[in-house]
Amino acid sequence: MKLVVQVRLLPTPEQAAALEATLRAVNDAATWVAVLAHDQRVFRNYDLRRHAYGQIKDDYGLAAQAAQHVVKKVTDAYATLHANVRNGNVGRSGSARRERALAKPIVFRPGAAQSFDDRCLSWQMDACTVSIWTTRGRMKNVAFTASADQLQTLAAYRKGESDLLYRDGRWFLIATCDLPDVPVRTPNGFTGVDLGIANLATTSGGVRHSGKGLNAVRHRHRELRRRLQAKQTKSAKRLLKRRRRAEARFAANTNHTIAKQIVTEATRTGQGIALEDLQGIRDRVRLRKPQRVTLHSWSFHQLGRFIAYKAARAGVAVVYVDPAYTSQGCSACGHVDKKNRPDQETFRCTSCGFAEHADVNAARNIAARGVTSWAVSHAA
Ligand SMILES: [Zn+2]
Repeated sequence: MKLVVQVRLLPTPEQAAALEATLRAVNDAATWVAVLAHDQRVFRNYDLRRHAYGQIKDDYGLAAQAAQHVVKKVTDAYATLHANVRNGNVGRSGSARRERALAKPIVFRPGAAQSFDDRCLSWQMDACTVSIWTTRGRMKNVAFTASADQLQTLAAYRKGESDLLYRDGRWFLIATCDLPDVPVRTPNGFTGVDLGIANLATTSGGVRHSGKGLNAVRHRHRELRRRLQAKQTKSAKRLLKRRRRAEARFAANTNHTIAKQIVTEATRTGQGIALEDLQGIRDRVRLRKPQRVTLHSWSFHQLGRFIAYKAARAGVAVVYVDPAYTSQGCSACGHVDKKNRPDQETFRCTSCGFAEHADVNAARNIAARGVTSWAVSHAA
């Protein structure tokens, strides 16, 4: 399985200047190639390389590999744009939005990510440094920081290209790791996981992971946004962008922690994990809390993804179940009734009298569906 590891670089001022000049050069070159591609209607890698390769090497001082990566970056960006156009993601045929998207060539930011392969970037794991090609020569001993876990993964499984990028005043390398598949153990029952807003995740075992911290950060951010949006100045916009990223980082950290605890517990008990199939989550959440949809749906998906890949690494079985009526159905007798759930937190069955925290009851339903789903798919 593929895993992405992001480490922060800690370059000296001299190294940082070289990295900055390099990213600027490759992205200027990419923007130039993008104009060429757009004007000549040449979008295939092979053709574009024939047109542009020599010139970007000479004009922008790029090494051979860097020049190739620049061309690939441009063809990939156009392939994505054209796929989006085909799939109707940038408006209908003839719409102003679509016309606009196709009228101008793609532009690359000076700090946009650039791929470096093993010839341009080497890792010294023991020293926690990298040696990287720049337009000012090879920079050696560029320090990076990583957790013990990340270091181990990088040392054992890093493979292929890494992306260098500059964001919010920080330098990052994003490395791809190719981990061996761990065989999935036959589960001894299932833990159900209910995703929500007040509680980000609740397990059928009764563990509730509160969304309090995250919701407080989001609330503070909303307040700040309201004040800054009125201003419309450049610095206000920059600050907003930084805050948005900080919030996303906080959410990702929270999701990582929750996913880790859920998978660790499943590993300990030998259980599998049953997750809601999130295809319909947007609609389901919209019904409950209209204003929070966009804020939360990506976070739900992220938590689901984190659980799935941590489970895969640990050989824990994961099944996806239909979440319909998991919040209204009684996990003790199966009776489904809206009145079973008088408020956000309470579940009390109108038929058998079973009472439980509403999220725990939902998680128990998800667990039961997980058991059924596993039994059906492994019947043979
Ligand atoms: Zn009941």
